[in-house]
This record gives sequence, C-alpha cells and structure tokens, in this order.
Amino acid sequence: MCGIVGAVAQRDVAEILVEGLRRLEYRGYDSAGVAIVDGEQNLSRIRRLGKVQALSDAVHEAKVAGGTGIAHTRWATHGEPSEANAHPHMSGDIAVVHNGIIENHEELRETLRERGFSFSSQTDTEVIAHLVEWELRTSENLLEAVQKTAAQLTGAYGTVVMNKNDPARLIVARSGSPLVIGYGMGEHFIASDQLALLPVTRRFAFLEEGDVAEITRFEVNIFDAQGNAVKREVKETQVSHDSGDKGEYRHYMLKEIYEQPVAIQRTLEGRLANGQVVSSIFGDNAEELLSKVKHVQIIACGTSYHAGLVARYWLEEWAGVSCNVEIASEFRYRKSHVFENSLLVTISQSGETADTLAALRLAKEMGYMASLTICNVPGSSLVRESDLSYMMKAGAEIGVASTKAFTVQLAGLLMLAGAIGHFNDLEPAKEAQLVKALQSLPAKIEQTLSMAESIELLAEDFAEMNHSLFLGRGEQSAIAMEGALKLKEISYIHAEAYAAGELKHGPLALIDAEMPVIVVAPNNELLEKLKSNIEEVRARGGLMYVFADENTSFESDDTMKVLKVPFCDEFIAPIVYTLPLQLLSYYVALIKGTDVDQPRNLAKSVTVE
Ligand code: GLU
Repeated sequence: MCGIVGAVAQRDVAEILVEGLRRLEYRGYDSAGVAIVDGEQNLSRIRRLGKVQALSDAVHEAKVAGGTGIAHTRWATHGEPSEANAHPHMSGDIAVVHNGIIENHEELRETLRERGFSFSSQTDTEVIAHLVEWELRTSENLLEAVQKTAAQLTGAYGTVVMNKNDPARLIVARSGSPLVIGYGMGEHFIASDQLALLPVTRRFAFLEEGDVAEITRFEVNIFDAQGNAVKREVKETQVSHDSGDKGEYRHYMLKEIYEQPVAIQRTLEGRLANGQVVSSIFGDNAEELLSKVKHVQIIACGTSYHAGLVARYWLEEWAGVSCNVEIASEFRYRKSHVFENSLLVTISQSGETADTLAALRLAKEMGYMASLTICNVPGSSLVRESDLSYMMKAGAEIGVASTKAFTVQLAGLLMLAGAIGHFNDLEPAKEAQLVKALQSLPAKIEQTLSMAESIELLAEDFAEMNHSLFLGRGEQSAIAMEGALKLKEISYIHAEAYAAGELKHGPLALIDAEMPVIVVAPNNELLEKLKSNIEEVRARGGLMYVFADENTSFESDDTMKVLKVPFCDEFIAPIVYTLPLQLLSYYVALIKGTDVDQPRNLAKSVTVE
C-alpha cells in the first residue's frame, strides 16, 4: 500500500531508489528496505525499521553499488512492523517487494511448507518469493515464473521480482495496487507512484489490471492477464518535478492548506463560461449523459465521503435530483438497488482507493446509466475505468490528512451539481449565482486564511483536551464531520461530529467543561435552529467555539469564543468554513508535537481493502 521503486540501469541505482522512497514517504510507512544486484551478481539487501533516512545511512555506510535494484516502504498489514517483516523478501536468489494483501497467503504458505520452504517473516508477501522460486524450477525464465505465480494469487498486489542470477531484468505484476513504468535513456524504472521517479524521468506508462511486464535496460514488454503482448501508452507527465518539496513551510499540510486559493483557481480555469458550467469538462459525451440524470449515487471513503455528503445537499436542493451517498466498503458488500437514469459518482484523490475502485467495478455490473469520477490523478484506475471524469488539478497532495484535495473535490462537485441542475431544476439566475460564487472562491479562501493567527491562539485551549465535539446543520454537518476527522487524524484527540439537531438525542450527555464544542455556524436559514442548539450546550456548562459569519450577532463571552469567518455566498460556504477547521487541527497537532504529515497508523492512498 505504500511505496515501491525499482530500476534497471547501467549506473548505480542505490541513490535513485532511496530518493524514490523518500519521495513516497508522505504516504506513511513503518519500515523500508532495498535489494541491489551488481554486474558480478552480488546481491546486497538492507532493511530498516523506521524512517527512510535510517535505510539511506545504512546504504551509504555499506557502499552498496549495482545497476539493478528494488526498494520498498512497508505499511504493515500482516505481521508487526519489524526488520524481519520489512521488504524485500527473499527465497534463494529471488527478491520481492510487494504492495497490497495476498488474501490466500495462508493456504499458499501451507502448500509451500509441504514443498520444503521455510518462512522467515510473518508477512503475506513472503509466499510470492517462494512461489516464484518454486515456479522458476520448471519455467523457461523469470517472466514465465512470475506469470504462473500471479495466476495463483488472490487479493491485491503490485509486485516487483528480481533474480540475483539474472540482473538484466525486473519482472513486475499488477492487480489492484498501482504500478507505473518510467522510461529513461538506456534505463527503465518502476514505481507505485510516478512522483517517486520524477528526478529521473518524465515519461510514464501505467500498468493495467492483470498486467505482467518484463523490464530491461533497453526494453519493456507488457503482457495482459491472458499472456498476450499488449501496449500501454507512454505519456509525458504533467506533474511538476518539485511537487515533493515543502518550500518555506514547516509541514506539507500547512503548504497544502495555503495552496488552496491557487488549487481552486486552477480547477476552475476554462470550466465556467457564460454563467454556466461547461459540461464537456466531464468528458466527450457528458452533456448527453448529464441531461438524462435523475438520481446520483455517490461512493467514497474518508474525507472524500464527506465531500460526497456535502454534494448531496447541493444536488437535491439546487440540481433537483435525488442523491444517496455511501461509504465504498459498505456499498460493495451489501445488496443495493439502482434507480432509473442513475449516475454513479466516485470520489478519490488518488484514483486508486481499493474499496472505491471495487465499488465502481461492482456498480458497472449493476446497470447504472454511467459512471463519473472526481479524481486528482490523471491515468489512475478510477479515471481509466469511469465513463466520465472531473480532473481536480489540485497538484500533488503529500500530507496524509487531506486538505486541498477536499476543497477542490467540493468545487468539482458544485460544478457537477450546476451541470446536472442545468438540465433539471436549476433556474438560470441561480445557475449564474453558482458560477459567480465559484469564481469568487479563490479570493474568499485567501481572505479566510488570514484567520490563521487567531486560530493558532485558540489551538492552545485544545492541546490538553482528550475529547471534542463538532456540530453543524445542513451541509455544514458534513463539514463538522470533516473537521472532527482532521483533528483525530493528526492530533489524536478523540473528536465526534453530529448534526446539531441530534444533540439532545444522546451526545448532550457528554457535555461538561472538559469537552470543547466546535460549532460551524454560517448565516443561513438554519442559524436560528443552531442558536437553540448552542443554548442547549451553554445551559450545561459546555465551552463553545463558534465559527460564524462576520455579519452575525454572535459575540464572545465566558462560555463561548466566536471566530468571525469572511462572509460568502451560500453556495460556497461549506468550502470556506472548511479552512478554519483545517487550521485548527494543524495548530493543535503542532502544539501536541505529533507527526503532522505522517500521522501514526495511517497511509495516504489506501490501496488495500
Ligand atoms: N501485506 C504486505 C505486508 O504486510 C505489504 C504491505 C504494504 O503494502 O506495504 O508486508
């Protein structure tokens, strides 16, 4: 699920591999390792628990040299984080790195034991190494052995296999976990994410499901799951070389929070015209498909799911179509029914989220009219496999806790509501208002970022707390959920979110002076209702932090701190109100001294179930 980097070159590749892992560090991992073979067929394997820097130091100290190598950052799924469980795993002369989960590893382990193999790790991955070794005994070459092995694996894998005795090639296989081949001059590379390889190449081909490829210095031969030779388009990437750089910021998360005005500007460019959303931005036949939509089913996980919850309010209220939103891991394992003229919308920053991808594949068999994905990574699985797409153009997001991807997703979803609404219930005047509101968004976000200083001060109140409650109504109830998730993810403070009307149905029992309550309270038709909820908390001695429009009458007092948010159009209020909550979680984490960009136990793009 975390990182894979591999190279076949004439030059020494140790530095390239370690730098590649460094560029994937943001994904979260617990250990790292590398195996390199030189021209004399000497293999060096080094693995370290903890940071890539520890691996890098060890690689330098051992003066590892050689032109063919594989490297890995591990996010443990089977077996504790330890050096013995770190990849590459070996069987005889075979070395393997793997992202994902081999679901049938137990039975394979059993069979391999019977064949005389012994295991030196608790990982599911080790079965791949032994299977390749076993199959190689009766195969013509490594490619054939890996093809035979892949046919026996169930689950998700992106894997790279190297043979100490045959350092001219790497064999790679993809099923469920992404792999991209990098094309150089007289050298080739492989990685789980193109970001890892930007220092060495800008030309990439994405492997597709079931692909197995043989990579040598001069050739790349790709085969599909049936063993037929196939071509995968090689494209120059648009991703910028320095997208892995923090610049002047202390953390990627802070950088990404501050990038939001530019990211939103970029996502809007060329997509709004004459008071309308340009529907062709979603794909060639988007206009025809979107004009028929009567129902939208949104599928996503985590932060993207929260974006979907906001979009439901927009789609139902403004576009006039019904909408359901569901967590992908639930959707894919329950029976559900498809409404007529229903559009399936998936949302994922990476486009590789395993549950969301599986849900899309399932939905395609269920009879949805069409599928559309809101995604940040061109060429990713969700983009390739959906009929329509909205490319977010948020730029690389490195911080594990999503910030700019969320607000850009929301901008994309608002555009989608506008485009669907155009053919349904959205009046031209409202449509023009929506477009104008979107156009004002970059400046509004810029203005809202100026709250940072006052939020930094506020954060001190939270650092000693163990719990917190976030409240909102309407679409802001989803923003409250996202605010709570951010705080949990990076500060490890327990945070819950409720639609404020639910308060008296249970959570009110939790209110005391140790439970800060954060209220998202823009000036809309629900404000009076929300004020009653605020009084309910106040009457029970709760301490409140209210984010409210600058033109409302809320004032700070002993029991309530009010932070004024720049006034904005109701269409974009959920996006604007997200910012103070992102900043709050960032500053609380900073005070607590947690690892902001790589919070414990979490990984960036969740490519396992
Ligand atoms: N399932 C494998 C393990 O636990 C690979 C995890 C990963 O994707 O990093 O070692």
